[in-house]
Amino acid sequence: MQGDQGFTPTAVREPSNRLLTIGYTVALGLVALMALASHVTLNHVLHEHEGAASVINVSGRQRMLSQRIAGFAAEMALNVPGARGELLNAADEFERSHRNLILGNEALHLPPAQTPELRAIYFEGDHPLDASVKVFVARARQLADMKLDDPARVDEQAHLFAEAREPILTDLNAVVTAHQRTSEARLNMLERMQTTSLIVILMTLIVEALIIFRPMVLRIARYTRALSVMAATDYLTNTLNRRSFSERAKAEFDRAARNGRPICVLAIDADRFKSINDTYGHSGGDAVLRALALAISQNLRPSDLFARMGGEEFSILLAETPLQGGLATAQRLKTLVEALKVPFAGKLIDFTISIGVAERGDGHETLETAMSRADAALYRAKATGRNRVEAAPPSVSPMPDRNDYGSRLAQPAR
Ligand code: GH3
Ligand code: MG
Ligand code: MG
Repeated sequence: MQGDQGFTPTAVREPSNRLLTIGYTVALGLVALMALASHVTLNHVLHEHEGAASVINVSGRQRMLSQRIAGFAAEMALNVPGARGELLNAADEFERSHRNLILGNEALHLPPAQTPELRAIYFEGDHPLDASVKVFVARARQLADMKLDDPARVDEQAHLFAEAREPILTDLNAVVTAHQRTSEARLNMLERMQTTSLIVILMTLIVEALIIFRPMVLRIARYTRALSVMAATDYLTNTLNRRSFSERAKAEFDRAARNGRPICVLAIDADRFKSINDTYGHSGGDAVLRALALAISQNLRPSDLFARMGGEEFSILLAETPLQGGLATAQRLKTLVEALKVPFAGKLIDFTISIGVAERGDGHETLETAMSRADAALYRAKATGRNRVEAAPPSVSPMPDRNDYGSRLAQPAR
């Protein structure tokens, strides 16, 4: 308990608000940035999935269209009504979708054919798909415009059938496979990015916890501890203040009462302190109060409670101490102070103290009454010359009143 009193109030520094705010902002900013990166990656993944699905879908439809174009051409030769219009429509759609597959189309979520593999399928080799499609579409339109009895028609139709079967179907399959491969590779990369950003988020949080939040929490805890010590300490003498003494002494006193143990309270007052102030000034008086508090606290046990109650008055609570022990301690302190010389402004101030000592009385005496008995003893010490120790007479516990008819009447009648 005396250990608390080694604390210097001026050492308490408020945690810097600016630093805390910057720490918080940086920490939150980093997490937000990581979350944003993760969101963007996820968006890319979704986009990639959508793109791959669209390509597969449109390419599949192209395969189907190429077969339908051949079918409509055959129906046209058989004079099926409406076959010519269907043939032209299918050729238009086939051409449009082919352009979309090469250039991309955002509305349809189609990515452009940009990879070397896709460009090779569309534009390179013996039968580049782009050229095959152009020839195929042109042939379909030409067939639509040919007379049914045109002798060249049979030949053209045979070419159309052959093209629909061989280069176009195969190449469209190759387009789907290439897209799937590209998309898979990109998805793998995005997955790695996602994992990396997750790891980075976790690492950032751990680092933040260690280098920002932990020191911050520790500082706040330190500051709170310092504040609570300050709230319990007298600013001038570093002893306990009246409030914390009352709390702690009451707990000690009650414990002693419960266990039937002896406990003493001492009331101390500096003698003729007014004249010290008058002679040496208020700061001379303060120096005396500090020296007095230091001398006393160095001569007490750690379990004793020592407080400045106000002005030049102090109290001490001595646990496990009967009156004789309390008086001996009081005498020791009185003698100690008598010999004390406080250096101030080139002079040595000497002074004395008077002490009243009271032991907890029988029964259930409270701290307050014991303290007022110690005060009364102190008053007697002052009145009988000062620089003295006076014992308070034992407290008289109220005896049961033999004439207490009231409580007897309260007994049930026999
Ligand atoms: P007695 O021996 O009867 O106790 O006389 P006294 O002069 O010590 O008693 P009194 O109560 O008349 O005066 C106490 C003085 O203590 C008056 C007040 O100005 C002074 N005092 C109270 N608090 C402080 C303080 O914090 N610093 C200083 N320097 N003086 C204080
Ligand atoms: Mg006084
Ligand atoms: Mg005094």
